[in-house]
Amino acid sequence: MTNTIEDVSEQTFDYVIVGGGTAGLTLAARLVEDPNIKVVVIEAGSDHLGDPAIETPAQFGAILMHPKYAWHFKTTPQPHLNGREVPWPRGKMLGGSSGVNFHVWNKPPAGDIGDWEKLGNPGWNWERFQKYAKKIEGFTPPTTEAQEMYRQNTNLSSHGVDGLIKTSFPKWVFTGEGTVQDAIKAQGIPIAKDPYGGDPIGTFMMAGNIDARTQTRSYAATSYYLPNKDKKNLTVICNSVVERLLFKNITPGEDLEASGVEFVCAGTKRNVYASKEVILSAGALKTPQILELSGIGDKHVLTPLGIDTKVDLPGVGSNVQEHLHSDLVFELDPRKEYETLDKLHDKSFATEQIKLHAEGKGMFTMGLTGFSFAPFKLFTATPSKAEELISALRSKINSKASAGGLPPGLKEQWMLQIERMEGGRSGECELLTVPRRPGGVPTEPGKSYLAICACSNSPFSRGTIHIKSNDPTVHPSMDPHYFEEEFDLKQLVEVVKFIMRLSHTEPLKSMIAEQIVPAPNLSSDEDLQTFVKDSVLTTWHTSSSASMLPRDKNGVVDAQLRVYGTKNVRIADLSIVPLHISAHTQSTAYVIGEAAADIILGKL
Ligand SMILES: Cc1cc2nc3c(=O)[nH]c(=O)nc-3n(C[C@H](O)[C@H](O)[C@H](O)COP(=O)(O)OP(=O)(O)OC[C@H]3O[C@@H](n4cnc5c(N)ncnc54)[C@H](O)[C@@H]3O)c2cc1C
Repeated sequence: MTNTIEDVSEQTFDYVIVGGGTAGLTLAARLVEDPNIKVVVIEAGSDHLGDPAIETPAQFGAILMHPKYAWHFKTTPQPHLNGREVPWPRGKMLGGSSGVNFHVWNKPPAGDIGDWEKLGNPGWNWERFQKYAKKIEGFTPPTTEAQEMYRQNTNLSSHGVDGLIKTSFPKWVFTGEGTVQDAIKAQGIPIAKDPYGGDPIGTFMMAGNIDARTQTRSYAATSYYLPNKDKKNLTVICNSVVERLLFKNITPGEDLEASGVEFVCAGTKRNVYASKEVILSAGALKTPQILELSGIGDKHVLTPLGIDTKVDLPGVGSNVQEHLHSDLVFELDPRKEYETLDKLHDKSFATEQIKLHAEGKGMFTMGLTGFSFAPFKLFTATPSKAEELISALRSKINSKASAGGLPPGLKEQWMLQIERMEGGRSGECELLTVPRRPGGVPTEPGKSYLAICACSNSPFSRGTIHIKSNDPTVHPSMDPHYFEEEFDLKQLVEVVKFIMRLSHTEPLKSMIAEQIVPAPNLSSDEDLQTFVKDSVLTTWHTSSSASMLPRDKNGVVDAQLRVYGTKNVRIADLSIVPLHISAHTQSTAYVIGEAAADIILGKL
């Protein structure tokens, strides 16, 4: 369905987009609305349009271990996780990670985006975010029955209705969701006021990027590529890996001008040229690699690898931020026969459900729905516990800053994170319910489980993603520095303890037979720290590896997304996020793609 190498190799386009993922395809689709603009998208993965492994919901990562669909990255051994390496799979296909994600359609708190502006990025505020988020979304409102039965309530004016990414509330909902929500409310977390309007603080039922008409995944490939596939001015090539940028003659003292990129297709190196710009949309884990291989990065990283530093930009691959989760697992009371995804272990039941999906029914129309985002102080046994930990953190930051040991700009970011916590304006701690035993653990027939995930959305630790070889086929070294800032560990342990208290809170208490993970005898802070270190996983939202910040604050791109020291290289993907948000990230990646198009077209 996509183009061939002859359409691309040695050809010249106005814009070359590297990476046909979430943001990259969004950007391409908007640019080619003008028939006079010629765009090529170069994607490392394949086109999986129409593949039920991608398009049927409720599979939650079943394909992630398959190299046909995903990059198999992993972190370096993490010293604060007893040396564990954490898998970091990402979507490798037309559509990128939007093709493998868990179709949670979520938006950040308004203030989190406002913080981007405060950090030196004029115009990057909630108004801009919401304008694009509404343009992106084509929401199908819930029926009155679903609102009553499943609490699928939302402020319709906060959604977009005509956008290309089709969203809806899941059709099949775990019957215990309301019970969990009632217990969460009893523990002091209120119902969120306007989750899609910038105020998601509280507990609410989440929508998903599931097309209500077909009950299939709506993602960048179906929504931004497919409607444009026949346009003469859009060329998309798959199975082609970009290795580095090509530059016009370099004049000392002048900004670099990219002329195109070098890529490998079917084992052969090729070039493609850009008459206007090259935009990197390879995702937060790969964009820094392309910059560094092209000589844009920290000279202390590049020189030892024999790479000539063309732009010394220490921010490349630094300021990496993560979302983390540890899952608590409960066996549900067998007398009540809860229907959970565990039933899909039964092959004949699963086959029946696949048949039902073809009719838009059954368990494969399920989406993750029970979510709560709230400030840290609502998760500790008493608010003073959170205050004590935050105050100790503040003192530590101040003494590190006065000792001169912080990278440029980091103190400002940390102070905003503290302000979010103290002001209660963000949802740095999150709960999410998954009606199954996670991790592919086989379950006994008739048993059903509920996982409640303890998530942390605003870690203070900062990681790095740097090349370790000048060979483009060697993945960069990905080191998130998990729990290097001890506060991150202590905070997550408090969320774990909250969930343990929650499990003893009615009406949830009566739904649970027993706590399976962690073992119920683990209850001291020390035990739970060990549990978290052994179990914590990424939420696959890594960001900020080429942050949009002032250059002297370790920035890589300016507010127009242009890479410092270049005339015509921009970045449009999650790597530009200057300070992480308390939300799942796909809507933000789409917003970045939309905004990038308007910036390039001079509309912003
Ligand atoms: C397993 C998983 C579950 C998730 N669940 C959710 C969820 O439920 N809700 C939510 O909001 N978010 C979720 N996310 C996060 C969200 O999907 C991502 O943050 C978002 O899609 C990232 O968009 P992006 O454009 O930055 O990168 P991507 O969409 O990953 O796009 C990058 C693209 O670049 C390509 N590429 C990389 N290197 C090269 C190269 N050298 N040459 C050519 N092409 C290259 C990649 O193959 C990929 O297609 C999830 C992510 C994962 C991985």
